[in-house]
Amino acid sequence: MDEADRLMTVCNSCRYCEGLCAVFPAMEMRRAFSDGDLNYLANLCHACGACYVDCQFSPPHEFNVNVPKTLAVARAESYAAYAWPQALSGAFARNGLVISIVAALSMAAFILGFAALNDRSVLFGVHTGPGAFYKLMPHNMMAGLFGAAFLYAVFALFMSVRAFWRDIGPPIDGRADGGSIFQAIRDAGELRYLHGGGVGCYNEDDKPTDRRKRYHHLTFYGFLLCFAATSVATLYHYLLGREAPYPWWDLPVVLGTLGGIGLIVGPIGLFMAKMGRDPALLDETRYGMDVGFIAMLFLTGVTGMLLLVLRETGAMGPLLALHLGAVFALFITMPYGKFVHGIYRFAALVRYAQERRTAA
Ligand code: SF4
Ligand code: SF4
Repeated sequence: MDEADRLMTVCNSCRYCEGLCAVFPAMEMRRAFSDGDLNYLANLCHACGACYVDCQFSPPHEFNVNVPKTLAVARAESYAAYAWPQALSGAFARNGLVISIVAALSMAAFILGFAALNDRSVLFGVHTGPGAFYKLMPHNMMAGLFGAAFLYAVFALFMSVRAFWRDIGPPIDGRADGGSIFQAIRDAGELRYLHGGGVGCYNEDDKPTDRRKRYHHLTFYGFLLCFAATSVATLYHYLLGREAPYPWWDLPVVLGTLGGIGLIVGPIGLFMAKMGRDPALLDETRYGMDVGFIAMLFLTGVTGMLLLVLRETGAMGPLLALHLGAVFALFITMPYGKFVHGIYRFAALVRYAQERRTAA
C-alpha cells in the first residue's frame, strides 16, 4: 500500500499515461489515496504493461516507478483483505497448483469409491442412453454435492465483493445505477483496458500484441459457454425430464463443446504468455495462485472433452469422476484464488463508470 501510494502520487504529478487505461483518469480524480482507493485502482489495472514501457521513471531510474507490478501486488493483497470468511484469507497465499489438483483427485477418488462400494462393475462398464452418467452416482446426490459447493462459492464471492465495494467507497449512495453497470459489462466484455492504450499488451519485449487479450477472451467465453451448457442441461433435467448424456447436436453438448475448446486453447495461451512475460511486470510471489487457476480451467476443459468423445466406452466412469473432480476443485477454490480477479475488476469498472458519469 505504501509503495502503491508513492507511485500514484508520482503519477498524479506526471500524468503522462492518462490516455492508456482507466487507472490514470481515476487516479486524477483524487489528491490523496486511502487503502480503499488504492485497492480500487489496483483492480482497475489489467496489467497490460504499457505504462511501464512508456514511463521515463521506470527502473533503472532512481524513482523506480513500476506501476504494473506494484498494482499486481496490491491487487493480490486486496483479494485476501476482503476474503470471506477472513479466517480463510490465508488460502490465497497457498492456493497453488498442488492444492487444486489434490482437491480434484480427492473428489474423483470419492466418486469412484462411492461407485465401487455400490457396484464395482459400473466403474469400467459401458453405459449408454439417458441416465448413463448416473450409474456412477445418483443424480440427486451429484446435484446436492455440486450444488452445495457452487452455492458456497457464490455466497463467499458475494460477501467478498460486498466488502470490496463498501471499502472503495461508491461515490453516490452505495448503489450502482443501470447505466454504469451496462458500461462496465461492455468494458469487461471487450477487455477494453487490456490493450495498452490501443496498441496491445506488452509481453516479453516492448512490441505490443493482442495475444493475451485473445486468449483471455477464449478462456472467459469458454467458461461462460460451459456454464450455459450446465444451466441448459439442468433445465432439461428438471423441466423437460430429459436426462444426460445428450446427443452431440443437442444444445447443452454444442454449448459445452464450444466452451470446452475455449477452456483448452485459452488457458494454454495464457500460460504460454505468462511464461514469456517480462518478469519485471509480474508479481512472482503469486505465481502458484495464477497457475493453479489456469490449470483447473484447462483440466475442466480437457476432461470434459475427453468425456464427450469417450462417453460410450468403458473409460466413461473414470473420466466422469475426473471431470467432476476438476469442476468441484474449481468451485471450492473460486473464492480463494485467481477467479476473484474477474469479480473485483467488474466492481471497479462499475465504480469507474459511475465516477465518470458523476463528473460529466
Ligand atoms: S507511469 Fe511514469 S510516465 Fe506514466 S504517469 Fe506514472 S510516472 Fe508518468
Ligand atoms: S499496466 Fe496497463 S492497465 Fe495497468 S496501469 Fe499500466 S497502462 Fe493501465
